[in-house]
Amino acid sequence: MTRIVAIGECMVELAPCPTPDTYRAGFAGDTLNTAWYLRKMLAAEHEVAYFTAVGHDDMSQRMVAFLDAAGIVTAHIQRRHDSTVGLYMISLNNGERSFSYWRGQSAARRMLDGEGALQAALAGADMAYISGITLAILPDCDRARLLHGLQVFRDSGGKVVFDPNLRPRLWPDGAAMTGAVMQAAAVSDICLPSYEDEADWFGDATPDATAQRYRDAGVGLVVVKNGPGEIMVVADGQRVTFAPEPVLDVVDTTAAGDSFNAGFLASYLDDGDLERACVAAARLAAHVISHSGALVALDAPPLVPAPVAGA
Ligand code: ADP
Repeated sequence: MTRIVAIGECMVELAPCPTPDTYRAGFAGDTLNTAWYLRKMLAAEHEVAYFTAVGHDDMSQRMVAFLDAAGIVTAHIQRRHDSTVGLYMISLNNGERSFSYWRGQSAARRMLDGEGALQAALAGADMAYISGITLAILPDCDRARLLHGLQVFRDSGGKVVFDPNLRPRLWPDGAAMTGAVMQAAAVSDICLPSYEDEADWFGDATPDATAQRYRDAGVGLVVVKNGPGEIMVVADGQRVTFAPEPVLDVVDTTAAGDSFNAGFLASYLDDGDLERACVAAARLAAHVISHSGALVALDAPPLVPAPVAGA
């Protein structure tokens, strides 16, 4: 049995409905998306837990109930009296999606306030999963506490998995973001960056350069995603590349990388085979981007293209 603890922020998502000015409330967030897909991909004997903070209000309760119903362990979620969960809203204009966020004061930003809470969540765990967004939302001192906690976890045999998920809007400037990302890399065993973002912010000329930069920081296994392009995996003495099947009718790329990470980790934990893990990851991501929304049921039927008017 493997115990995985994902650490980050789950938000309320308001997604537009066909009726004008009507929105459907759901829950999503990068680390939560990965936890949700991991729970679906892993056999029942494994455990997936989520570590975050929420409020005591109704929406917070509903969020925790949603995680419970998905089979994600919520026992270590912090509950705060002074704040509630963050929210984002998706707007659709002529088919283009844009996002508005209300997350600046969210409870998740204070998830490390509770003395010993992170240590309690990681006690007995095998793997911790964080992202660049987890790093970005924390105050500087709490980010340092998180990285220290992960180092201690690692020293006692735990594995740390990190998706840099670069989001410059969440950081004061690019240097703060890239500095924190490389600090997190230094306490990570597995890193899952996306080449396009890494090239923009680190100036990597090739996916190999991205992999090498994280390897130089001490990461044992680096998986470089590249949209529809070739996936590259670099580990000790191994370099595997894999071309994902092209998805011709991309519906919504939300959670492409998050689901990819879950598909990769679930397969890799099962048999340690890197090529099979790439196949599983690309297959899950292809399914997710062929549907609308971040969290797509694994058995969701393919979307049928809308009939052409008059046909
Ligand atoms: P992120 O969402 O983190 O930016 P990417 O855009 O690199 O991540 O996509 C993650 C994975 O999703 C890719 O490695 C690939 O497997 C899959 N993917 C994304 N776009 C496509 C596409 N157009 N066709 C097929 N697979 C895709």
